Amino acid sequence: MPHLIERLRKGQTWLIANYDRWWNGSMPDAQWWDAFNLWDDLDYTLRFVYKFDGCPIEGGCSDKTPMVCRGCGNTLTLFMNS
Ligand SMILES: [Zn+2]
Repeated sequence: MPHLIERLRKGQTWLIANYDRWWNGSMPDAQWWDAFNLWDDLDYTLRFVYKFDGCPIEGGCSDKTPMVCRGCGNTLTLFMNS
């Protein structure tokens, strides 16, 4: 399970770092959504396979992330601030 948490932390950093690239068209849609959906799958697995409760991100999900984890509400923040 620690490897999953590590992947979610790195994944969230990646999503935050690459969100602008996708938004301005310099990253293919498929690449973005693959990463986005993978992150969601990992979060799902963490909870429903490993019974993890809470947030895998130290200090909670960033308010800059396009998507927060299920522990923080599973809110799709992607289009809310634009
Ligand atoms: Zn979270």
